[in-house]
Amino acid sequence: MTKKIPEIFGCMVFSDEVMRERLPKEVYKSLTKTIATGRTIDASIADVVANAMKDWAIEKGATHYTHWFQPLTGVTAEKHDSFISPVGNCKVVMEFSGKELIKGESDASSFPSGGLRATFEARGYTAWDPASYAFVKDGTLYIPTAFCSYTGEALDTKTPLLRSMDAINAQGLRILRLFGDSNSKRLNITVGAEQEYFIVDKENYDKRKDLIYTGRTLFGAPAPKGQELEDHYFGPLKTRISAYMADLDEALWKLGINSKTKHNEAAPAQHELAPIYETTNMAVDHNLLTMEYMKKIAEKHGLVCLLHEKPYEGVNGSGKHNNWSICTDTGKNLLDPGKTPAENAKFLLILAAIVKAVDDYQDLMRISIAYAGNDHRLGADEAPPAIVSIFVGEELEQIIKSIVDGTSYKGAKAGIMDLGVPTVPTFRKDTTDRNRTSPFAFTGNKFEFRMLGSSQNIAMPNIVLNTAVAESFKQFADVLEVAEDFDAAVSRLTKETFAAHMRILFDGDGYSEEWEKEAAARGLLNLKTSVEAYKYFNLPKNVKLFIDHGVMSEVEINSREEIYFENYSKIVNIEALTMIEMASRDIIPAVNAYVAEVSDQASAKLAVMPDIDVSVEKSIISELSDLNAKAYKAMLALKTAESDAAKIADAVARAEAYCDKVIPAMNLLRSYVDAMEPITASDFWPLPTYGDLMFRV
Ligand code: ADP
Ligand code: MG
Repeated sequence: MTKKIPEIFGCMVFSDEVMRERLPKEVYKSLTKTIATGRTIDASIADVVANAMKDWAIEKGATHYTHWFQPLTGVTAEKHDSFISPVGNCKVVMEFSGKELIKGESDASSFPSGGLRATFEARGYTAWDPASYAFVKDGTLYIPTAFCSYTGEALDTKTPLLRSMDAINAQGLRILRLFGDSNSKRLNITVGAEQEYFIVDKENYDKRKDLIYTGRTLFGAPAPKGQELEDHYFGPLKTRISAYMADLDEALWKLGINSKTKHNEAAPAQHELAPIYETTNMAVDHNLLTMEYMKKIAEKHGLVCLLHEKPYEGVNGSGKHNNWSICTDTGKNLLDPGKTPAENAKFLLILAAIVKAVDDYQDLMRISIAYAGNDHRLGADEAPPAIVSIFVGEELEQIIKSIVDGTSYKGAKAGIMDLGVPTVPTFRKDTTDRNRTSPFAFTGNKFEFRMLGSSQNIAMPNIVLNTAVAESFKQFADVLEVAEDFDAAVSRLTKETFAAHMRILFDGDGYSEEWEKEAAARGLLNLKTSVEAYKYFNLPKNVKLFIDHGVMSEVEINSREEIYFENYSKIVNIEALTMIEMASRDIIPAVNAYVAEVSDQASAKLAVMPDIDVSVEKSIISELSDLNAKAYKAMLALKTAESDAAKIADAVARAEAYCDKVIPAMNLLRSYVDAMEPITASDFWPLPTYGDLMFRV
């Protein structure tokens, strides 16, 4: 196997290497220029590229092609067309034109459009994104595309992502030019997304309607063992899991996905896969493909991969760490602190820009990871709290404090510059200690945004980060471009920015109650539920941000806001209905059957021996009858809460009802059912238990 990896890696990708080999020199040059500069494709070369792509794909076994896009459902979409084109009688040739490559037409009417559909035509267009490589999968040529409405409004997550990459590039280059960098032509925003997931046996999965319909367990008493022994984290891989991971790696490598690290995670049956970082749009595509293959390959092994944020109560949930950095096309990482003070001045200014961006747009950062599934994870167990804050490590924090206070930093021999601002000291990279409780942490030469949920498309968090930082860069460049004394202006700006945003820096325990209190005193947002968070989305300052940087129009923003609320309500609604069905059709009848059985046993005993001790039977009958009656009542109450919520016409009020009324009703029902599970005989309990799900893989 080891020998084969370099051979199979990327073998199904229409990569740069394949393009160079297969395209005429001029066409290749023109295409790579388009990719490197982010410009639109020259139509005259499209036919040549399309033909080369088709020939290559057919060699790889493809018969069809599809435009592959990322509608606002959060998952990917595709529609396959074959290459066949009839010639004469009962004959076909394989054809694929530049027009078909560049643009696809798709009926958009069934994708969420958040009101865009009402105002515009239902038709949607997909447009080739030449910056993401095409690939062959399951006999089909996949062409990564953006998806928009007839009038050009983005109906997907990719279009605003590409626009946000352009925005941070445009503003960031202004800063670099000021620091005398005239070589860099494009900023490359890099992302590495560490992906957590759970594995469950397919047979057990098939017996749980909650897993099938909602991806998480809605009932389930804790197993005798959880993760308290910490024996699963980084523990040896079980044979079956190891075989699954090997298959998964091979499939991903063929698609050119740099799957690098795999290990057991904290919770039983929880694992992680980390790729090597790459340009954001590729990282997004590849993360979506990784999630798809995690599920697909699991099936081959009689397993199911759970990507939900919180499949099980009481053990860790699954997240995704979005490692993010700004590099130049010349290969420099702008978040690398460097060794010399001059470089550090640039680094510290960029750091200030990011600190400012995250503080100014805490709400958008929170919204970018807010949805029903992630609400169960934020603040629980190992996951970050709902408060956005930044951890930069002790040494950097000391440096920032000394800049703000105008005192010299103790760790270095610092002189004082004209404005009384100490010169920037050097510091060691590895002193960025890893505070695992921080939602946004500097880890040496990148930031790690840790609030993301495991199931989510990582586009939105990156759209927000890129755009918010672009805005900081813009404000900085506006000041610095007209400054008379550049060095002094940089020092002043760095100092003022840090001083204005100190409140967002926090290096303590993010999970503690004291932090919630302190964060409130600092005026930081603590948006505990998604519904609460979504209300901030179209605040004027946020709308202005997206419009100013050409990332989203007001119409696009409003449509997304509507989809946020709609999605939330739909997800909770499905969960409520699933609970009602499981309780009324499976669980309550099962407990009744067990109670009847115990009653029969007691009667039989009493018939033989009238003075025999049946206190055990009596106690079981009484306790279970009482709990089952309560469960039944709670189920009826949930039914009422659900139908009341569903009737509300206003999308925001409806989501509020699901959040404030339906979820508490679900929790109450669950509490009675979970209390009955450990005292009902195994033979009667209709569901695999937490023990079965987590320890029998
Ligand atoms: P952890 O201890 O959190 O697992 P790692 O050092 O293993 O941290 O890196 C985690 C992820 O960060 C990997 O996906 C890696 O490719 C990514 N990463 C490393 N450097 C960068 C960078 N400059 N930009 C973006 N992501 C990066
Ligand atoms: Mg990490």
